Amino acid sequence: MSKNILILPGDGIGPEIVAEAVKVLQVLKDQGEDIAWSFGHLGGAAYDAEGHPYPESTQKAARAADAILMGSVGGPKYDALPRELRPERGILGIRKDLGLFANLRPALAYEELAAASSFKPEVIAGLDLLILRELTGDIYFGQPRGRRETADGHAEGYDTMHYSVPEIERIARVGFEAARKRGKRLCSVDKENVLETSRLWREVVTRVATEYPDVELSHMYVDNAAMQLVKNPKQFDVMVTGNLFGDILSDEASMLAGSIGMLPSASLDVNNKGLYEPIHGSAPDIMRQNKANPLATILSVGMMFKYSFDRGDVADRIDAAVRAVLRAGKRTGDIAMPGETVIGTREMGDAVVAALLR
Ligand code: NAD
Repeated sequence: MSKNILILPGDGIGPEIVAEAVKVLQVLKDQGEDIAWSFGHLGGAAYDAEGHPYPESTQKAARAADAILMGSVGGPKYDALPRELRPERGILGIRKDLGLFANLRPALAYEELAAASSFKPEVIAGLDLLILRELTGDIYFGQPRGRRETADGHAEGYDTMHYSVPEIERIARVGFEAARKRGKRLCSVDKENVLETSRLWREVVTRVATEYPDVELSHMYVDNAAMQLVKNPKQFDVMVTGNLFGDILSDEASMLAGSIGMLPSASLDVNNKGLYEPIHGSAPDIMRQNKANPLATILSVGMMFKYSFDRGDVADRIDAAVRAVLRAGKRTGDIAMPGETVIGTREMGDAVVAALLR
């Protein structure tokens, strides 16, 4: 049966970058992949069209889809809306509705772009790291939380960090499975020397490791991990961590790759159904100018084939096409060095399509 993909272009540059990813989907379909897609609204575009950032029509389509490709949401136009109608509510809503608990963020530094990074080329050239962040638990959602008054009359804010055994087990399994498909090394990041939650986290991950004897497990404190990521990031294959630590480390790791315009991401449920999107936002400053880099979105299609459709071969073809395009010197503004010729969003998409057809 056809794999059914829901496409949510969203706001700002979303529709432009998604249009280039659709060109790639069309090539794959023409080459025999059994895929079909339809479009829906999310974020500000959904508010404009249907009065809600995650409207019922999108909910229905998202639940029925095998995978979802998203552009990006948000923009100044929507900043004055009440919180529950803001575009970001659309993303939080779809993640919660579909139970997307595992966020995968690869940080890949292409040799061709090493000079564009603020890191020394020898530190990042050839870097291929995957950060796996738990997305639905931890201190971001823990109860109780709020404000109260201390005994001596001061206002105090408080949040609660917690993870249960099943929550840790399921994210650990995604980590081991991902490591199995890559370099077979998993580094679990915690703060076990200070936090009870981390002590349990480490115990559970260590226990789950016995089911994966072919994967080498190590543990690292989050403060050390933050340091090691900039000192020697190539030591890592897959990192797995909780929501709070993962939020920070994945943004840190994104800088290693040179441009946020290059980085895809996936958020998966227990059955590997996923939402795929570039890590960047809707870049309203460059919308409708044919300037946005579509490669992160195109690489998100690759991740979709790898993780939701179990077709690593298609993901490899997309990666290879992107590499070929970079090797040929094609650059959008965000990844160009001074003096390099800059091409537009559409031309970059066409270049990837041409590489796929070769
Ligand atoms: P941003 O990621 O949109 O932009 C940051 C900078 O990077 C801008 O200068 C932008 O031009 C540039 N940039 C981003 N993507 C690019 C691409 N593909 N090619 C070339 N340059 C690119 O972050 P921001 O400016 O902080 O946020 C803008 C809007 O996006 C806000 O409304 C924010 O809430 C939203 N946002 C959405 C998501 C999401 O949809 N998942 C994520 C982050 C921010």
